[in-house]
Amino acid sequence: MFTDARSKKVVLLAHCILNQNSISDGTADFPSQVKKVVQFFLKNKIGIIQMPCPELMCLGLDRGDVHGAERPVVVENTRIRTSLNKPNSKKKIQPLIKQTIHQIKEYKKNGFSILGVVGINRSPSCGINTTSMNDKEVSGQGVFMKALQEELKKEKINLKFVGIKTSKMKETMKSLTEMIR
Ligand code: SF4
Repeated sequence: MFTDARSKKVVLLAHCILNQNSISDGTADFPSQVKKVVQFFLKNKIGIIQMPCPELMCLGLDRGDVHGAERPVVVENTRIRTSLNKPNSKKKIQPLIKQTIHQIKEYKKNGFSILGVVGINRSPSCGINTTSMNDKEVSGQGVFMKALQEELKKEKINLKFVGIKTSKMKETMKSLTEMIR
């Protein structure tokens, strides 16, 4: 099976890498895609799985406050984190995790290489190395990535997690190059 033209290589990207329109107000660095990152995976013949945007799905495009962009980013991110940890949001995150895990398991079962999961550092949802908490950027993971890693652990699936910042493209490209090595 699957001996057609496909590369059998995939990566999971945070939703906003492919769609900057999903990001919280005031934080988009690009008009649509993070082109360099997308081009990198195209060039390397790696299929892109766009993960859901947890904040959009749980809190909406305005994250539940139209004045969000008026606050410093880490202050607003802390508010978003608190909202994501409320029972109603947690209930909405669970199916998103399940759908993501389902795809990972299908690709694994069929012998595809999953080169990694790419998140967005500082994000209260998708941070991998850093996140926002107590009005600061701190070491740690976002709510969605933490839950995803916990589920993967239960399934005994080990994947590389790489955190990037779209405002720091040089470091980003270095991390992605290391990830697919
Ligand atoms: S970092 Fe995560 S929650 Fe934030 S916009 Fe991107 S995909 Fe959505």
